[in-house]
Amino acid sequence: MPARDYDIRDDRFAKLIHMNAGPEVLWTGGRWTEGPAYFAAGRYLIWSDIPNNRLMRWDEMNGAVSVFEQPSENQNGHTTDLQGRLVACEHRGRCVSRYEHDGTKTILADSFAGKRLNSPNDVVVKSDGAIWFTDPSYGIDSDYEGDASPMEQDGRHVYRIDPDGSLTRVIDDMKQPNGLAFSPDESILYVADTGKTHFPDCEPVIRAYKVSSDGRSASEGVDFVTCDNGLFDGFRIDTDGNIWSSAGDGIHCFSSDGTLLGKILIDEVVSNVCFGGPKRNRLFICSTTSLRSVYVNARGC
Ligand code: MG
Repeated sequence: MPARDYDIRDDRFAKLIHMNAGPEVLWTGGRWTEGPAYFAAGRYLIWSDIPNNRLMRWDEMNGAVSVFEQPSENQNGHTTDLQGRLVACEHRGRCVSRYEHDGTKTILADSFAGKRLNSPNDVVVKSDGAIWFTDPSYGIDSDYEGDASPMEQDGRHVYRIDPDGSLTRVIDDMKQPNGLAFSPDESILYVADTGKTHFPDCEPVIRAYKVSSDGRSASEGVDFVTCDNGLFDGFRIDTDGNIWSSAGDGIHCFSSDGTLLGKILIDEVVSNVCFGGPKRNRLFICSTTSLRSVYVNARGC
C-alpha cells in the first residue's frame, strides 16, 4: 500500500526507501510547523509551530505530544550542537540562541556590524563547533510569524558563529537563504534560496558552495538543483551524501551528483525534515499543520 507514497525516478531510490513503510502522521494541529530537531539522549523531538508562537515536543517512547515552550519568540529552525544542546533561530528575537544544560538560554548572535539581524531561519553546526545560519526576512515581513519591522541589514545573508562567539558573514549572493546543510565531509555547503517569494525571477534552487580548507568560508556558489514543485525550504543529508529536501509535494531526494532519485509524496507542503531515532534512519517531517515520520534505508549525518 505505501507504494502510492513514493515517486521513484531512479533505481537508487528504491534502495533508500522501504516500500512497506510509508510516512505516518504523528501529530496535527499546527499552523506552520518547522524546525525539527531530534534529541537522542532523551528520545524526543522538538519542533516549531511558528504562527502559534510555540515549540512542541514529541516523546518517542509513548507518542505523547505537549507544548515545550510558549511563547517561543516565533522560533523557526533548530538543530543540536556537539554537546546535544538545542540551538534555535528566533524570528521575534531576531537572533540565534542556545538552551544550556541548566535550562537557561544564551543569545549567540543578534546583530552584525551594529545592525540587527533580519530573522534567523535555519541553522547547522559544523564539526569544529561553528554554527552556520541563514538570515532571510520572513520573520520581519509581517506580524504573522514574528514582528513586522524594517530590515536593518543590506540584504539576506548566511553567517557563521565561531565557538569564541565572533560573527562572520559568509555568503552574500542570495535572495532569501533558507535551509542549509553540509555534505558529509563538510567540503560543500548547500543552501536553499526561497527568494521566489519576493523576487519572481529567482529560481527555487539549492545552491552548492565550496567550503575553504580551513572550514571557515564558502565560495564559488553554483545552482545545484532546481525544485519542480514549490520551493526547497529545509533539508538534511544522509551519510552517503544524498539530500532529502522539503518541497511543495513532499520530500525530494537527490544524489550528490544532483540527480533527482525520487520523492516521498506528502499531501501538505513540507517545510523541513531531520533524521532521528536511535539509528538515525527515521526521517521526521514538518508539513504545514502536521508532524510526520517515515523510516528510510539511510542514516542522517
Ligand atoms: Mg526554513
